[in-house]
Amino acid sequence: MDYWSALEVYKEMVLLYLEEGRQQVNSRCAHLEPWQIIGVTVITTVGALWVKGFLFQQESLTSRIKKQCFRLIRKIPFVGGAIQSQLNKALDDMSASLFTLKEGMSYTTELPSKGLSQAKVMEKIKEYDTLNEVKWDKGLVSGAVYWGDESLTNLLVKVYGDFAWSNPLHPDIFPGVRKMEAEVVRMACTLFHGGPNSCGTVTSGGTESILMACKAYRDIAYERGVKHPEILAPVSVHAAFDKAAHYFGMKLVHIPLDNKTMKVDVKAMRRAISKNTAMLVCSAPQFPHGIIDPIEEVAKLAVRYNIPMHVDACLGGFLIVFMAKAGYPLAPFDFRVKGVTSISADTHKYGYAPKGSSVILYSDKKYRQYQYFVAADWQGGIYASPSIAGSRPGGIIAACWATMMYMGENGYVDATKKIVSTAHKIKTEIRKIKGVFVFGDPEVSVVAIGSDDFDIFRLSNALTSKGWNLNTLQYPSSIHLCCTVLHTQPGVADHFIRDVKEQVAIIMKNPKEKTTGMGAIYGMAQAIPDRSLVTEISRGFLDCLYSTEVTKSNISHMNGNGKAH
Ligand SMILES: *Cc1c(COP(=O)(O)O)cnc(C)c1O
Repeated sequence: MDYWSALEVYKEMVLLYLEEGRQQVNSRCAHLEPWQIIGVTVITTVGALWVKGFLFQQESLTSRIKKQCFRLIRKIPFVGGAIQSQLNKALDDMSASLFTLKEGMSYTTELPSKGLSQAKVMEKIKEYDTLNEVKWDKGLVSGAVYWGDESLTNLLVKVYGDFAWSNPLHPDIFPGVRKMEAEVVRMACTLFHGGPNSCGTVTSGGTESILMACKAYRDIAYERGVKHPEILAPVSVHAAFDKAAHYFGMKLVHIPLDNKTMKVDVKAMRRAISKNTAMLVCSAPQFPHGIIDPIEEVAKLAVRYNIPMHVDACLGGFLIVFMAKAGYPLAPFDFRVKGVTSISADTHKYGYAPKGSSVILYSDKKYRQYQYFVAADWQGGIYASPSIAGSRPGGIIAACWATMMYMGENGYVDATKKIVSTAHKIKTEIRKIKGVFVFGDPEVSVVAIGSDDFDIFRLSNALTSKGWNLNTLQYPSSIHLCCTVLHTQPGVADHFIRDVKEQVAIIMKNPKEKTTGMGAIYGMAQAIPDRSLVTEISRGFLDCLYSTEVTKSNISHMNGNGKAH
């Protein structure tokens, strides 16, 4: 009772203030006409809404202001012209140096009026084969081809042939392919310790697997009433998440890494969680430095805040599941970790299946529901499709299934043992070289190299001249080797270590020398503050891919850039 009487006093005070406020407002408005009051109210409300809309958009205000400034700079008469002419020159240089044909070759630009004989087609095919200059089969290329074993290739050609015309869009016509796809998904679920409710689909590749998970979680967020769903992912996460955000109208919030370990900063991840968060992401391992993020810690956040969590194991999924059996135990990274709701893993990377297949797995069927697309009212019939594509290549699914059956657990464990031991050896030996360092402590197959003493792109140039084809990375500048079965061939790892040692020794004699060639271009591309220029040049690169004009100059194939990861 005492409390209530004490509150009475406050209540009276509040009422007094309100009364005073009312009188103040009324006296100030006494000389105004009603239309003035209504007018000002309407204008203020609309104005406030506009300001809110302007300040809070998908793209941050600073980023938009920056872009606008660069746009204005390019409109300044002389400066803009100079930038444009530099840009045009860069684009011309690129189209001249990329993809030049051999002497006497030309492009086919229309159908042959009369079909060629099979022998003639094969003859032509040989000509295209001669364009290959990079010797990927010798283990000089980072990633790209994960095996290429001849007896497996022969098997795959046969299996593809048998299923070339099949299409899982018509399971009634091709029940065998349906069974194979279901089995590929189930085998993968088992590898990642999925429970009885775990499930998934086969997709065309890692990017589609990631797109599908993001789409599913976006729709779950929409259902919760979130208008602008956000993906929280480490800065090291694959660009497919940027693509997903771009395609599906989501916002990708990049979480910084710990500088030493290159693992995502879990505290920063926690701080970034908001009512808009649709999903948390970790990689196992991430592409740039081959580091596995702290999955158990992030999963705790996912459980605490009740947010779905995706583990991107596109790259190393089919290594990490075999590492314990290969003698390299890892911290839990899969459905054993409470909070992990989906995993993407590429069968066409370390699963050794031909390109064009991957799996997206969910811990529970309730998530997969949101991935599906159904057009119930289509004139062409009720249309239900599990992923992005409509018709899908049954032959590729059959080849993927055949690869998994042919490899078996023993085959995968053996390959994993060889690859991981090779990568560990390279990591250990590179760490001993003065002048360079390895990023974090990579546990799987990628070793990323940097330097505090010289521009690492000089090493990239030097290794390119020795026939190596590594990946160049930015922010921070580094290069990496992604070990595949091809690098486990006798002598390859030693050859690599020897070349790095020798080239670093040469560079360290004069560590401050300027970088030239492609290395200089990588360095420069990072330093350009107006990223729209980089985007424009990259679009030019994509245009070049579709060029069917014969250029005159015959500068050899551009090395290591624009390569698919
Ligand atoms: C390769 C890769 C992807 C994307 O896979 P694609 O098959 O190229 O679409 C996604 N995440 C990581 C970590 C990768 O290495």
